[in-house]
Amino acid sequence: MLARIHSCWVQGVDGLPVTVEVAVQSGLPVFTVVGLPATAVKESKDRVFSALSHHGQRFTGKRITVNLAPADLHKSGSGFDLPIAIGLLAALGSIDERDLKGTALAGELGLDGRLRSIRGAVALALGCRDRGHGRLVLPAPDVDAASIVPGIEIVGAESLSDVLRGLESDTWLRPGNGTPLPSRDPGPDLSDVRGQTLAKRALVIAAAGGHNLLLSGPPGAGKTMLARRLPGLLPELTPAERLDVTRVASVAGLVPAGTLPGHVRPFRAPHHTISAGGLIGGGSPPRPGEASLAHLGVLFLDELPEFRRSVLETLRQPLETGLVRLSRVRYAVEFPARFQLVAAMNPCPCGFGGDDCVCGPSEFQRYRARISGPLLDRIDLHVSVGAAPWSDLLPDRPARRITPTVRGQVARARRRQRSRGVAMNADIEAAAIWEACDLNDAALRLLEDAVRHFRLSARSVHRVLRVSRTVADLGDAVRVEADHLAEAVRMRTGGGWALPRSRGGLHN
Ligand SMILES: [Zn+2]
Repeated sequence: MLARIHSCWVQGVDGLPVTVEVAVQSGLPVFTVVGLPATAVKESKDRVFSALSHHGQRFTGKRITVNLAPADLHKSGSGFDLPIAIGLLAALGSIDERDLKGTALAGELGLDGRLRSIRGAVALALGCRDRGHGRLVLPAPDVDAASIVPGIEIVGAESLSDVLRGLESDTWLRPGNGTPLPSRDPGPDLSDVRGQTLAKRALVIAAAGGHNLLLSGPPGAGKTMLARRLPGLLPELTPAERLDVTRVASVAGLVPAGTLPGHVRPFRAPHHTISAGGLIGGGSPPRPGEASLAHLGVLFLDELPEFRRSVLETLRQPLETGLVRLSRVRYAVEFPARFQLVAAMNPCPCGFGGDDCVCGPSEFQRYRARISGPLLDRIDLHVSVGAAPWSDLLPDRPARRITPTVRGQVARARRRQRSRGVAMNADIEAAAIWEACDLNDAALRLLEDAVRHFRLSARSVHRVLRVSRTVADLGDAVRVEADHLAEAVRMRTGGGWALPRSRGGLHN
C-alpha cells in the first residue's frame, strides 16, 4: 500500500514543502529512502523502526520504500522521522488517512518513540501555511515558538503515541503553556552611562536614522555600555519583524523550548576571533551567522581592528543589500541580515590616543590599515568617547530612566522619515539626499567651509547630509538648518581616524 504524508523541511530560513511517500510491499526486507536525502535523513530508518517497535509494530518481511518529493533538492534535517513513521502506519492501514487531511507533521523521534525538538519550527510553520495546510503537528518544545505564525493551527505532542491519539481523538498539546519572554523590557537604561554627552547624543542620532556608528576611545570609557543601550532606543519590533527575527533564531536553534519570543530587537556581540562562517553563516546544512542573528537589531563589533580583515570584508554584502548569499556545491541560500552596525575601537594601539599616546606613526598606520576602507565608508557616525571626567564618576542620586523618553523621540523622528517615503535616513539614495535636506544659504555656506577644512569626499558629504537630516528630524524641523549640519559635521569628524593631536591631526 502507498501513503502520502505532508511535511516541510528547512533550507536557509525557508520552510520548503515535501511529500513523504511510503510504499510497503511484501518481499525481501529492504528499507530505502530516495529523493536526495542527506545522511541524517537516511539514519531516520533506525530511529523510526525503534520507535515503532516500542509501539508494538514490526516490519518483518516487508519491502519499504520512502520517497521524498520533489526529488531534485538535497534534503537535510531530522524532522522527517515523524512523517515517515506515520506514513508507514498509514501504508499498513493502522491509521485512517482521512484523519491526516489538511495536516502536516515534522519531528525527530527518539528510540523510545519520544519526540525531540527540531530546528526551524517557525520556518516550517510558515512553509506549511503557505502550502495551504491547516494544521502542523510538532514536537511539544517547538509549539510555542511556531505559534507566532498566524494562519495555521500549531499543535504538539510528546511522543509518537501522543500523535496517534491526537489524530484519532483530536487531543493535542496547544500553544500558550510557554513562558513569554519580556516583550516590553527596553533593557539597560541610557542614564546608567555617566557623562559622555557627545557619545550618548550620537547613539540617539544612530537610533533615529538607522546610522551605523563607530565609537573610538580608551579601554573602560564605556563603549560597550553605550552600544548595549541601542536596542532599547529602537522602535519595538512590529509583528512581521518579530516573525522574521524569530524565524532566524529558530533555524539557529536559539529559541528556548517552551518560550514565546519577545519584541526586543536582537543585540549580537561576536568576539573578534570569529570566523567568516561564524559571522555570515555557512556549514552543511547552512546555518545563519551573527550578521543574520542581528537581523533587524544591532551587530556590535568591539575591538574592530582585532577582527581578521578577511572576516570583516564579508560584511560588505549584507551592509549593501541586507542579505547574505551563500553558494555551495549542494545549495544556494539567502539569509536576511539587515542589521545596524556599531563598532568600537581604541583610538590607537596603546589605547590612550591624543596627548598621552605613545605609539609611533608606523604602528598607528598599521593599526589603521587593519580595517578596510569600504567598511568604514558604510559608517555614518565616527565619535570619540573620552575617559569620563572625575566629576562624572562621583556617586549621584539614582538617575531618572531616560530610555523610554528617548525611544519616544526616536519613534517621532522615524515617523517623519516615513512621511518622506524612506524607512530610515541611512537608506536615502545619494541622488535624493540634497532634496531631502533642502539646505538654505547659511547651511550651504557652512557645508562648503566643512568640505574645505576637513577635505571631505563626495561620499563623506552624502553621509554628513544623511546624518544632518536625522538631526533635523529629531528637532521636528522641515528643512536642514546650519545648526543641524554643524552637529552632523562634528559627528563625522569627531573621532575615529583623526590622527593623535601631537602629530597635527584633525582633532576638533
Ligand atoms: Zn597610542
